[in-house]
Amino acid sequence: MTDGAGRTPLIAGNWKMNLDHLQAIAFVQKLAWSLKDARHDFAAVEVAVFPPFTDLRSVQTLIAADKLPLEYGAQDISEHDSGAYTGEVSGALISALECRYVLIGHSERRTLHAETDEQVAAKVDAALRNDLVPIICVGETSEDLEKHGPSAVPVAQLRAALAGVTTAADIVVAYEPVWAIGSGQAATPDQAEQVAAQLRSTLAELLGADVAGKTRILYGGSVKANNIAGFMREPNVDGALVGGASLDLTEFASIVRFRNHVGV
Ligand code: PEP
Repeated sequence: MTDGAGRTPLIAGNWKMNLDHLQAIAFVQKLAWSLKDARHDFAAVEVAVFPPFTDLRSVQTLIAADKLPLEYGAQDISEHDSGAYTGEVSGALISALECRYVLIGHSERRTLHAETDEQVAAKVDAALRNDLVPIICVGETSEDLEKHGPSAVPVAQLRAALAGVTTAADIVVAYEPVWAIGSGQAATPDQAEQVAAQLRSTLAELLGADVAGKTRILYGGSVKANNIAGFMREPNVDGALVGGASLDLTEFASIVRFRNHVGV
């Protein structure tokens, strides 16, 4: 099932550096059961989790063995395919674990690990050549917001990230204002919609109207069960990238089930 524009909403949980592989198994199992008990329609709202690298094999094994209708992905990817890159994890290694998605250019990577726009673009290419769907994270700091307004930096980051992409590609864009991440101060639905609309126009300009119409744009930044509905009512917001609240099973399941509790 899709929204009015034909895009299936995606609720993605970025666990960051939390939960070991045993905790991951317990969490994913409980999440699947709790959503199944609530008769969640996984075809109507897709659910994905992004555990640390060390958990991915355990999550893969569980999801495959129990045929759980959940997707999963990695939180980062190397721009290189193989070789002497100590500590890096390549697209081929991530793909071998049957991940569908990979987060690229999260603001914590950009700020704490000095990841540049060029590296983000190289990682997007690495994801696509390894059959992974990149979730390209873009967003402005509060200083950017003051200096350049809301959409200039996210749009510039998206342009840079897509520098090597010329044909139709399966990608997801996550608009995450840096000032809203982990701050408890989410953007308003209207703010998210305005930037999402600009990002969609940019996709249309770069990759054509067809790709732009099919690409899901998520909002991220202090999403909770009590504010998800407002974002999901916006025509250009197709889901959420959830950090802190994705580690609380009840809260995350409630975000996933936004349609049931708000009638969207
Ligand atoms: C994130 O880190 O991607 C995020 C959106 O975090 P939070 O939901 O905690 O703001």
